[in-house]
Amino acid sequence: MSGKTPITVAHGDGIGPEIMESTLQILTAAGAEIAPQRIDIGESVYKSGFTSGIKPEAWNTLRETGVFLKAPITTPQGGGYKSLNVSVRKTLGLFANVRPCKALHPYVNTRHPNIDLVIIRENEEDLYAGIEYRQTGEAYECLKVISRPGSERIVRYAFEYARAYGKKEVTCMVKDNIMKMTDGLFHSVFQEIGAEYPDIQKKSQIIDIGSALLADRPENYEVVVTLNLYGDIISDIVAQIAGSVGLFGSANVGMNAAMFEAIHGSAPDIAGKGIANPSGLLNAAVMMLVHIGQPKIAAKIRNGWLATLEDGIHTGDIYKEGLSKQKVGTADFTKAVIEHLGRTPEHFEPVAYGENAKINIPAYKRRTYKKEMVGVDLYVDDTAHTAEEIGKKLEALAGPEFQLNVITNRGVKVYPGGYPETFCSDHWRVRFIDKKAESKDDGLKLVPVNYESIMALQKRLADAGFDVIKVENLYTYDGALGFTLAQGE
Ligand code: NAD
Repeated sequence: MSGKTPITVAHGDGIGPEIMESTLQILTAAGAEIAPQRIDIGESVYKSGFTSGIKPEAWNTLRETGVFLKAPITTPQGGGYKSLNVSVRKTLGLFANVRPCKALHPYVNTRHPNIDLVIIRENEEDLYAGIEYRQTGEAYECLKVISRPGSERIVRYAFEYARAYGKKEVTCMVKDNIMKMTDGLFHSVFQEIGAEYPDIQKKSQIIDIGSALLADRPENYEVVVTLNLYGDIISDIVAQIAGSVGLFGSANVGMNAAMFEAIHGSAPDIAGKGIANPSGLLNAAVMMLVHIGQPKIAAKIRNGWLATLEDGIHTGDIYKEGLSKQKVGTADFTKAVIEHLGRTPEHFEPVAYGENAKINIPAYKRRTYKKEMVGVDLYVDDTAHTAEEIGKKLEALAGPEFQLNVITNRGVKVYPGGYPETFCSDHWRVRFIDKKAESKDDGLKLVPVNYESIMALQKRLADAGFDVIKVENLYTYDGALGFTLAQGE
């Protein structure tokens, strides 16, 4: 048995096979101790009837190797096809998406020559949980799921990453001024865990101004940690302003497995033309070599690649008259990188990766809470009545146990005391709390309710002809509200 590390490789679609061949040739020439096992994924697999884009036997290979070098794939448009990337990330528990972006000025054109930052994005939760409903004729819902374990491990990963790679600062970007519970949890976990890293500076920004500043002054950031959707958007922005989406790789890292890929897609517009830049996948492979404990070979490849760029040997996507010396296709770029292996870049700082680059995250310690049910939100589909009419009818159905606390439409309070200007859709949320609950100056004084009374309330509404489309129980945890108040309440 050789000492080679088994890895799974997938050649993907579009430019995938071209850039994978290039990357594997460079890895072999550099002496990478790997034993690639090939699986098929993507368009052909989708079209042969596997809506997940991957066959069951390929999962076994992935699980056995725990390391996946993946070329981009084409996700067929239209119904029924699931995103393979999201499936692989979630099935293998690849919770951290790590995207380093460093400008290659002056050899690759960018208005931001000093970009050197890493975006660490939560990879499994958020709106990407894919839980969506059409609840009424007019309203659709997508659930944003943020968990404490998910937030803790990505935030800790970001701080550990900063330490391992000599970064001095981590910035958290969320929108907790609006999403106080979900984004608020992520932000408070950032503050809690950040306190364990006094050697690292902590910054927090709201994602909207954070993205604007990132696009304007990216050199002010070192590590950004954020939620799934925000991270997806800002990492593409940063890659593009750093030079080209064709240049950068990403790692999707979990406790037991990791996937490495270029950040770009399958580029069908240039597929088969032999002109694709293999650098994104090659840089992903460099991250993979560090991950599997071959940092010296990783550095040899990265330094050879930097030396190639310095010599002005560029693929079409980054070729620029005056900066570049030679415009090459994929095969000649590959040959040039291989010829530059062992060379040290002169302008760029040569890289050296340490053994300490491997990051371990402790297992999550589950907490216990005192949980009490204190009410219920019933969602109702209604096009026939005004807020006032619905309010009056439902107050009459509250029964001996409940009082109607508030009705909202798309989150804003419309009863009691709504405004005629507020537009109402067919999607109403009606909050019932215990009859004995009281509104005081210092907030709502809630009283526990029981499940049977909620069931009976729901039945009363249904019997009266209301279309109850969803039931969301309301809880307190250790006395703190487990739900937000209505906007305008
Ligand atoms: P894309 O990233 O494939 O291409 C965007 C533009 O960048 C194109 O003009 C393309 O020619 C260029 N480009 C991308 N990579 C390049 C490279 N290595 N060298 C030179 N130029 C390069 O984005 P798209 O066109 O929106 O998506 C195409 C397909 O890829 C879609 O089916 C999409 O679902 C899929 N996709 C897959 C992944 C993945 O597998 N991880 C990621 C994103 C998109």
